[in-house]
Amino acid sequence: MMVRQVDILVIGAGIAGAGVAAQLAQTNSVIILDMEARPGYHSTGRSAAMFAMNYGNDPIKKLNRASWDMFHQLPVDFFPHSVLTDRGVLHVASAASEPEFDELMANADDIERLTPAQAAEIIPILDTSYCVTAGLEREAKDLDVAALHYGWLKQTKQNGAEVICDAGVSDAEFVDGLWHVETAKGKFKAKIVVNAAGAWADEIAIIFRVAPVRLVAKRRTIATLPSSHPDVSHKWPMLLSASEDWYMKPDAGSFLVSPADDDIVPPHDVFVDDMVLAEGLFRFCEATTYDVSRVDSSWAGLRVFAPDKTPVCGFAPTVEGFFWLAGQGGYGIQTSPALSLLAAHMILGHSLPAFADAQLINDLSPDRAALKQ
Ligand SMILES: Cc1cc2nc3c(=O)[nH]c(=O)nc-3n(C[C@H](O)[C@H](O)[C@H](O)COP(=O)(O)OP(=O)(O)OC[C@H]3O[C@@H](n4cnc5c(N)ncnc54)[C@H](O)[C@@H]3O)c2cc1C
Repeated sequence: MMVRQVDILVIGAGIAGAGVAAQLAQTNSVIILDMEARPGYHSTGRSAAMFAMNYGNDPIKKLNRASWDMFHQLPVDFFPHSVLTDRGVLHVASAASEPEFDELMANADDIERLTPAQAAEIIPILDTSYCVTAGLEREAKDLDVAALHYGWLKQTKQNGAEVICDAGVSDAEFVDGLWHVETAKGKFKAKIVVNAAGAWADEIAIIFRVAPVRLVAKRRTIATLPSSHPDVSHKWPMLLSASEDWYMKPDAGSFLVSPADDDIVPPHDVFVDDMVLAEGLFRFCEATTYDVSRVDSSWAGLRVFAPDKTPVCGFAPTVEGFFWLAGQGGYGIQTSPALSLLAAHMILGHSLPAFADAQLINDLSPDRAALKQ
């Protein structure tokens, strides 16, 4: 059977693989391999589609800031409309979650503190006997994830690269300076392999005889609920509990409500745990005057974290030509412009983008102490 050779193989056609391939394909031959029948089937197609500058730890916030500028400069040939639209986040605290709210306010930029009455003016279903304090993050946005993902795949393909689905990677060997990669769709060779396999990134590392980085996959569930009440506005901000144990976002005539579950699960095609969802809906109802009459649909996805909750971006320290782009947690869509650009510059040996200071490179390194056994 013919073995196809390119400069770079990217494993995973989610937002991470598509974003980095769009950069790499401008000057290199690239193939993206994905085990599923279509790109975006796993985490990328299951997110809450939010951009919030204050969400995440310090390295994530650096990537958020850099991505914010880049979201406003995406090439119009591939992104004809802005992928960001106004939403905002209303952070609300109960008496029990006030300490978490205070911590958020101490570390956040541009969150305006509100009284419970002011918060309830913005979202009238908020129960003021639950809410003791609130903060409005006006600049948070809805993200058009499908348009972003599609735009990068389009850019990748227009530069001559290929996306091959149903091509699960099952084996690999490094021979004479090239990775020989076996998949369900045949064999491929490349000098560099990018591991953008989401929840399966540690499994891919093992196939390539690279030390795993101790990623954990955490299930997160979303349900869509009807929102036909006359007082409901679909322009309301997202409503997020300060202890992140539920959230609600108005979306296309419905409410998306999440129990904000964080249960550790093995990498798999994750599905809803009805009891976890029911408990989360109960917490949402306790905080609001909303009554759940029915659940229209629900799904679950995986958020994938390294032990220090910081993504892993860089060449494996001891194995040639193996690049990590994994562990984006709950921030993989909003940080994807900056992480894709940074990863591509590192892979190609170009000077790094201005936002990538030495501390950030160290924080993202696959060689950092937090990832060792
Ligand atoms: C419910 C939920 C809400 C979220 N909300 C947000 C949000 O509001 N904002 C935000 O920024 N982020 C959010 N996230 C996080 C975001 O969705 C992820 O960080 C991001 O999608 C990760 O992208 P990825 O490309 O790394 O992973 P994936 O999209 O999972 O892609 C990995 C790909 O690798 C492929 N693959 C795996 N193994 C193999 C193999 N052996 N061979 C070939 N291919 C393989 C898979 O098929 C998959 O397509 C949310 C996540 C969830 C679950």
